[in-house]
Amino acid sequence: MQGMMMHRPLSIISILEFAAEANARAGLVTVETHGEVTRQSYRETYARVGQLAHALSAMGIKPGDRVATLAWNNRRHFELYYAISGIGAVCHTINPRLSAEQMIYIVNHAADRVIFVDATFLPILAALKEHLPDDLRIVVMADHDHMPDTPLEVFCYEGLMDGQKTVYDWPEMDENTAASLCYTSGTTGNPKGALYSHRSTVLHAFMVGTILGPALPRDEMGKTNILPVVPLFHVNAWGLPYAAPIIGANLIMPGPGLDGESLWSLMDTEKVGSAWGVPTVWMGLLGEIEKQGRKPVALADVVIGGSAAPRSMIEKFEKMDVNVNHAWGMTEMSPIGTHGVMPPEVNQLPFEERMDYKQLQGRRCFGVDLKIVDEDGNRQPHDGKAIGELYVRGNSVVSGYFNNEEASEKALDAEGWFGTGDVASINEDGFLTIQDRAKDLIKSGGEWISSIDLENAAMSHAGVANCAAIGVAHPKWDERPILVAVAAGEDKPSLDVLRDHMAAHFAKWQLPDDVIWVEELPLTATGKVSKLNLRKQLADYKHPELA
Ligand code: ADP
Repeated sequence: MQGMMMHRPLSIISILEFAAEANARAGLVTVETHGEVTRQSYRETYARVGQLAHALSAMGIKPGDRVATLAWNNRRHFELYYAISGIGAVCHTINPRLSAEQMIYIVNHAADRVIFVDATFLPILAALKEHLPDDLRIVVMADHDHMPDTPLEVFCYEGLMDGQKTVYDWPEMDENTAASLCYTSGTTGNPKGALYSHRSTVLHAFMVGTILGPALPRDEMGKTNILPVVPLFHVNAWGLPYAAPIIGANLIMPGPGLDGESLWSLMDTEKVGSAWGVPTVWMGLLGEIEKQGRKPVALADVVIGGSAAPRSMIEKFEKMDVNVNHAWGMTEMSPIGTHGVMPPEVNQLPFEERMDYKQLQGRRCFGVDLKIVDEDGNRQPHDGKAIGELYVRGNSVVSGYFNNEEASEKALDAEGWFGTGDVASINEDGFLTIQDRAKDLIKSGGEWISSIDLENAAMSHAGVANCAAIGVAHPKWDERPILVAVAAGEDKPSLDVLRDHMAAHFAKWQLPDDVIWVEELPLTATGKVSKLNLRKQLADYKHPELA
């Protein structure tokens, strides 16, 4: 027997339409590319999104067309998210930190018709122009007064908006219509496109809003102020542009100022309660907090994901009463998979035991199924001991890749689950531990060593500011672990001191054989330590026994 309920297709524009009425006074605070700070409520934003939709239609953008963005976190980028998907086109966000080669590949692969670009990134486009589609139109995301000089033929964003009506008759679409496109960073081979739908995006926003929303702090006026350091140019800023209007939270958009000092002062003036980003950005913020002698006035929560949050970082935040929510996910999952909101029994534990939990990658969100399997694909128990490759299933997980048959064929297993490439264990209470990316695990004498574990232990030494553990070739053991580290101060701990410090957590054979001190670690386009580049940099390195 069928239920007798209406079926309303899930649509992204309905989120903003709702917020414009029900959360009208909440909205966006933007640090514009030229430095000024602007404020715009969701009601004003919705009206501008209507104008933008008319402008896009006037440019001939049709349902299914790809419209690209190359931009910071700001209000115009947010408007594009809604206007492009609202008219049935696809918002293709491009990561400006990608290599020229990758950018050329994805703009051509996506067959973008228009690209909206912040003035900062115009030189990137100018340099690539001859490799981009001939008919690609360029719109600079600025008003008339802030249009940069450029040899390129460009349109002005506010110029396109001038005189457009604020009311748009949004088309009703199948909820499975494509809405946005984000390419993986392509650390191996060409980037692959995750093509999100209206349905997957709205369900993901519900998931983020219902699970992470209630845990968000409010300021003394009862406002929820969230600062997404995570870029709108990569995996939709972890879904915040869609979740925040639903829960009536303000988004504080940092624009180009992503260094510790800029973030600290923006957080302080805008009373940011919660900030979201990858571990590397928090290193900058923690440095600034130390310099200032205090945290930003209202900061009470950080969501850390994208790579493992080092325990030492989690402890630093928690000691200053900033709750750490350690989450895990990936581009192919829209991206949130797990969250670090703790059950009450964990919150009551003594500090060290609580940190034992916070260090884990949290529990799955409702709507995301997890399984771990051995090499033959057999499911492993969720007992906290068995380790296997992590597979996921859910309404916000990709079923394949955009225009890429070869990668799509390999994406899912026989049961229809997506292989994450991560190696993990899951305990009885559903807590996930990411041991490593499969390709980063260190194999020594037939046994595996988790690079994340080694890094955590090394970074708990006060002399180590940041570090990466990698395996280097060894004739007898196959691979041996070494550390590549950034020192916290003048005094660099010796290898023996580090090994002693780490010894409690490891068998002796698991401890690193060498430490190489560097000024900084190479980062990927998404701000994570790039082990691929590190391995390239160390191509001539020889294990101490062989040197
Ligand atoms: P990329 O950085 O390559 O663009 P993603 O952002 O999709 O790709 O990265 C997803 C991967 O990042 C995951 O598969 C996992 O390996 C890693 N990751 C994400 N969050 C965490 C976390 N909290 N702890 C450990 N690893 C994480």
